[in-house]
Amino acid sequence: MARGFAAPAIPVARPRLPDARAILPYLQEIDANHWYANHGLLWLRLQSRLAAHWGVAPEAVALTANATLALALALRASRVAPGRKCLIPAWTFVATAGAAREAGLVPHFADVDPATWALDPDAVAAREDLAEIGAILVVAPFGMPLDTARWDALSARTGIPVVIDAAAAFDALRAGGPMRPGSSPVIVSLHATKAFGIGEGGAVLSQDAEWMERLRRLSNFGFLGSREAMVAGTNAKMSEYTAAIGLAALDAWPETRAGWQAISRHYAEALADDARIALSPGFGGDWISATLSVLWPAEGPEDAAELAREGIGTLRWWGDGCHRHPAYADCPRDPLPVTDFLARRVIGLPFWRDMTATQVAYICGVAQRLAGQGAAPPRPRRAAALRATA
Ligand SMILES: *Cc1c(COP(=O)(O)O)cnc(C)c1O
Repeated sequence: MARGFAAPAIPVARPRLPDARAILPYLQEIDANHWYANHGLLWLRLQSRLAAHWGVAPEAVALTANATLALALALRASRVAPGRKCLIPAWTFVATAGAAREAGLVPHFADVDPATWALDPDAVAAREDLAEIGAILVVAPFGMPLDTARWDALSARTGIPVVIDAAAAFDALRAGGPMRPGSSPVIVSLHATKAFGIGEGGAVLSQDAEWMERLRRLSNFGFLGSREAMVAGTNAKMSEYTAAIGLAALDAWPETRAGWQAISRHYAEALADDARIALSPGFGGDWISATLSVLWPAEGPEDAAELAREGIGTLRWWGDGCHRHPAYADCPRDPLPVTDFLARRVIGLPFWRDMTATQVAYICGVAQRLAGQGAAPPRPRRAAALRATA
């Protein structure tokens, strides 16, 4: 391809959504209803079934066209004044910063904790510039559950709205799962590359009825129950066709989840005792993700090229870090040694539901051989320690 390699025999991702047969009965309902958009019956049903899945009231879930728009509207619904700073982790997908900008805010990049790859609430609480921060956008990295209670406590204490970008945390949020939605709104992505993919889609979880009303208005031209725009809204609604895919995907979810779990287990077992290749924080626990990122013992580019030559596709899902994108070059930032470290070493390995145990064993074998040739791996523990050796 672009670099002269053939397409890898084992791609890094190969999404599989419900097939046409599974979606057809729902499409036929749409035909019968003559209702195609604007909060239809399938949309309503998907919303309440997802609420049951997450163990919240149906009114606590709002479906949107995608998670990026939902994040931007969540910041607006939290009434953060335009022009203020929005604290975000530098170690995230570029959509997080895009959403802050879309909401009229200035992304301010903070570093993540090396043990969790996420913002640390204690480190944020200890900042001296809290008065300048209008909102905090916290990211659950690669679907890892966050302790929402700590963020809710920080938000209550400081008065700074917190929005949680849990784009990949569909499963961690399940009823009885390891991540409980609290008072801060939580946004989930239903994009094709996420664990519960429906093509394009997003969901907002919030138990605050007034806040939710603002969000619903903002996502529907400013309308709610009338055709009078009370706020300058946009259109972030999910269509009935997308809801149809969502309902079919929910029907199949137990089987889908079992598939993700099986692949996670194969990788976790193959790499569990490896001192050189570390799985992303929490991976292999009681939640599943649709990506597998590992911490490589050395800076990765030659090894990624070698993996490609062996037919193994890789992707650095978050590239060089969000702060390195030209669009955000002018954004304020803290020193980012942990993010820069992760950006140089984190590699996404092939991870999709139809992979075989043999493929996982092959990939881990090649990866371990390559990783074994590098220098002994440094293991960052604290940003301060990293800075001292930088
Ligand atoms: C996938 C992802 C998004 C974007 O979700 P969309 O539904 O594609 O808009 C935002 N943030 C993070 C951390 C993601 O992983």
